Amino acid sequence: MAKVRYINRLDQVKGLSEETRRALAPVVDRYKFRATDYYLSLIDWNDPDDPIRRIVIPQVAEMEPFGDLDASNEQGNYVAPGTQHKYSSTAVLLCNEVCGAFCRFCFRKRLFQDDNDEVVTDVSEGIKYIRRHKEITNVLLTGGDPLLLSTRRLENVIRSVREIDHVKIIRIGTKMPSFNPWRIIDDPELLTMLARYSTPTRRIYMMTHFNVIQELTRPAIEAMVLLKQAGVEAVNQTPLLGGVNDTPERLAKLMQRLSYIGVPPYYIFQCRPTEGNKQFAVPLVRAHRIFREAKRRVSGLAKRARMVMSHESGKVEIVGLTDSRIYMRYHRARHATDDERFLIYRRDDKAYWLDDLVPIGPHPHPSYAADRRHYGQLE
Ligand code: SF4
Repeated sequence: MAKVRYINRLDQVKGLSEETRRALAPVVDRYKFRATDYYLSLIDWNDPDDPIRRIVIPQVAEMEPFGDLDASNEQGNYVAPGTQHKYSSTAVLLCNEVCGAFCRFCFRKRLFQDDNDEVVTDVSEGIKYIRRHKEITNVLLTGGDPLLLSTRRLENVIRSVREIDHVKIIRIGTKMPSFNPWRIIDDPELLTMLARYSTPTRRIYMMTHFNVIQELTRPAIEAMVLLKQAGVEAVNQTPLLGGVNDTPERLAKLMQRLSYIGVPPYYIFQCRPTEGNKQFAVPLVRAHRIFREAKRRVSGLAKRARMVMSHESGKVEIVGLTDSRIYMRYHRARHATDDERFLIYRRDDKAYWLDDLVPIGPHPHPSYAADRRHYGQLE
């Protein structure tokens, strides 16, 4: 059994000089650091731009003012403790507040701060809510990383959800195959438990979070094989991250390799303008170009991925660009009336997010505009 060690202090990171550690001290005071020795071993310390290093090692640039701590206003989605309900068919249970490591670009880094109470260990109120809401057909377990829970505790959550007839799909958002694949490889009870609840007509999906091909190691692939043998489906989602996967070559390699191993890319996300994330931000227009160029290089299964922006009003997909306009469409909308709504904005190559853009014509998403007025955020 491979024993993976969790590393919570920079002085345990051998590749960093004393001077760098000192410079990073205020950064880790603000945004916690956590890694595994396995994940750190994937870093090429001779390359200052190594993508794994960028994902997990703090940077002074995180202190630069940028974005919001809760960029998509997730706080507005809570319906019960630890339970969000934004899209009618989907409920989200935040059942753990720790991850195998902390990604420096995380859009939920607020959850890891000591005074945050959005995550609960007891999701019973959320379960009651889901039971009452028959429109909910799928439940996403997230956090934090649910695979950091003990198998027994994870089973308790999965069993409670499985007992609700109208919930057909259970999704588990996890980056453990990247940070510590042995969490899966070395726990046959976990695999047996998942096999019990992932049935032919009501599957469990792992929503993996591979960002670069360096993470697709032999153990990571072995973990995915075991999950599949347990009857678990898997798809991948990743943000497009400056300095990590923001070239057509890197993104295409990731998408292609994921399709080869049976974990096809599902969503490529526009990186949310979250505090501390300036160095990962890629403007929308450039991100869209990278994505389209990457798609040209991959085969059909990898091409199915969509690039979306998880805005507080819904998942918005860029569908086209001209010299003067950006065309978008709601892929999923908070309000049913916005579903599939087409949006037209003035093109702005510096914009990072929907809110940075100027709409053409009347406000193209009136339900969202009404919400914002309601919260006093628009005139
Ligand atoms: S694994 Fe996901 S939730 Fe955890 S730190 Fe990374 S991005 Fe955030």
